[in-house]
Amino acid sequence: MQRIVLASSNPGKLKEFGALLADSGLEVVPQASLGIADAEETGLTFVENALLKARHAAQASGLPALADDSGLCVDHLNGAPGLYSARYSGGHGDAAANNAKLLRALDDVPPERRGAFFICVLVLLRHPEDPAPLVAEARWHGRILAEGRGSGGFGYNPVFLPEGYRQSVAEMDDALKNRLSHRGQALALLRERLRELHP
Ligand code: IMP
Repeated sequence: MQRIVLASSNPGKLKEFGALLADSGLEVVPQASLGIADAEETGLTFVENALLKARHAAQASGLPALADDSGLCVDHLNGAPGLYSARYSGGHGDAAANNAKLLRALDDVPPERRGAFFICVLVLLRHPEDPAPLVAEARWHGRILAEGRGSGGFGYNPVFLPEGYRQSVAEMDDALKNRLSHRGQALALLRERLRELHP
């Protein structure tokens, strides 16, 4: 079985990747289990940061590496929190504080102007110097609720209402979220590209 390193240490993402790649025929090893620390995310775009993370993990592990850079972009805030989604309120990964800050920033903004999307960029590097990485991007459109609902998953799930649904992401079961989400869709695209290259 081909081993690949997963360049993330976010427990919410690791759980989703575990489910999404369960039938992939790949042995997916989280970077932390190999003693690899998070890369510094110094890029100015999601794709740059995904490449930085994948290269760092491939270099440190000697294995092919899969990285995800993702976030929430809110129309009324010109795309914020965007690249800084994980640390919007200051501390890295404090979801409750991030959600509270976002709801405050949209106080009094009516539903029709609360549009937003999640974005996920995935990069698969076969080795650190791979000049032709596989890149896949997907977006999940919706709007920001007036207050959080539900407790499933991680991050901004409670405040995001996907287009065409009445449940927040935190009120969805894992299988539905994985089928609809930016991460699920980007991974489906990446797997399609892999099948084309290695039928
Ligand atoms: P990254 O580790 O820099 O890619 O951080 C991504 C951040 O975006 C996460 O910490 C969350 O705050 C947010 N995010 C990305 N994907 C999701 C999701 O599926 N649900 C909720 N929040 C997400």
